[in-house]
Amino acid sequence: MDLFEHEARDLFARHGVPVPPGEVTDTPAGAYAAAVAIDGPVVVKAQVKTGGRGKAGGVKLAGTPAEARAAAEAILGMDIKGHTVHKVLVTAASEIADEYYFSFLLDRANRTFLAMASAEGGMDIEEVAATRPEALIRRPVRDMNLALAGDIAQAAGLPAASAEVIVKLWDVFVREDCTLVEVNPLVRTESGEIIALDGKVTLDDSAAFRHSGRPADSTAGDPLEQAARAKGLNYVKLTGDVGVIGNGAGLVMSTLDVVAQAGGAGPANFLDIGGGASAQVMADGLEIILGDPDVRSVFVNVFGGITACDAVADGIVRALDMLGPRATKPLVVRLDGNNVKRGRQILTEAGHPLVTMVETMDDAAGTAARLAARGA
Ligand code: GDP
Ligand code: MN
Repeated sequence: MDLFEHEARDLFARHGVPVPPGEVTDTPAGAYAAAVAIDGPVVVKAQVKTGGRGKAGGVKLAGTPAEARAAAEAILGMDIKGHTVHKVLVTAASEIADEYYFSFLLDRANRTFLAMASAEGGMDIEEVAATRPEALIRRPVRDMNLALAGDIAQAAGLPAASAEVIVKLWDVFVREDCTLVEVNPLVRTESGEIIALDGKVTLDDSAAFRHSGRPADSTAGDPLEQAARAKGLNYVKLTGDVGVIGNGAGLVMSTLDVVAQAGGAGPANFLDIGGGASAQVMADGLEIILGDPDVRSVFVNVFGGITACDAVADGIVRALDMLGPRATKPLVVRLDGNNVKRGRQILTEAGHPLVTMVETMDDAAGTAARLAARGA
């Protein structure tokens, strides 16, 4: 997950990386108050998860609190590359002598971390990398210390004093489980301080469990995806009209294929309920799938393994019970595997009006596609 600049700078500050004093706010009045507190010239910066804010007019210098308020008025609500600005960061303005680029990132292809540094910071680093690759140094790193940081700084043309900051940025990178920590620009001020003026951080979501209390990603797209994640389920939104529920990634993937081949609009989404298909998991899954307004029919494709078909069938029946009137779309159920006879018997006996049982995966996909088309 990508962090906002103000979140990145909070992490920086926690690990001793120098950042200018500042406050985040969502109102012009808040920007005025922040500028009063800072008591000097400020920079008002759009908080959006995209770069190039400066060029887009999302970073403004303000000499007085009134100017800060006006800058916030102009920036709040602005659209920057498709991102609406809801918050601004108001920081003390720095007197910049030089702007540099520095980053640590996970280099998956080479199975290592990479330090990248350039004396040509501030501007578009992709352009520097493309037009003058020699101006951007890349060093594989697995650990960090002051001597190594000094080497990298020297090789890239950064001031010697930046070595200490580089070591602290490494602390952020490793201790916070990041896949990217980027500072552009890292600046030397007129008074010789090294400060991180901008920060871009990507956290490794797979390591989130190690960091309790981390805020959830407020910008993580689809609310159903968020709801699924909160329940520990893997839900992905697609573009068709058949909702897909399956147990296990492999089965779900092949289910998507047969639904696509069945003609019609194809899968609307999919949800992998994993190995355990208890009534609660099935109810949670169905609720999420049915919450997608594009869904016109649902294909439940379950292969009974450790969780046998009778338990799954029981889960489906009880899930429909729990959902009551919230279950509104036809359900095509294909069960196979362990205890399949008993499982089908349970569904037959329940005789739920929304449920159609089909024996093969291809036939079930065809039925689901037809029901979806009929509901359209
Ligand atoms: P980005 O365009 O999204 O990367 O936003 P940045 O935070 O990097 O800001 C863009 C540019 O604004 C920087 O490269 C600086 O040139 C300028 N800038 C940002 N903060 C300050 C500051 O405190 N003082 C001055 N003089 N310029 C700043
Ligand atoms: Mn920047």
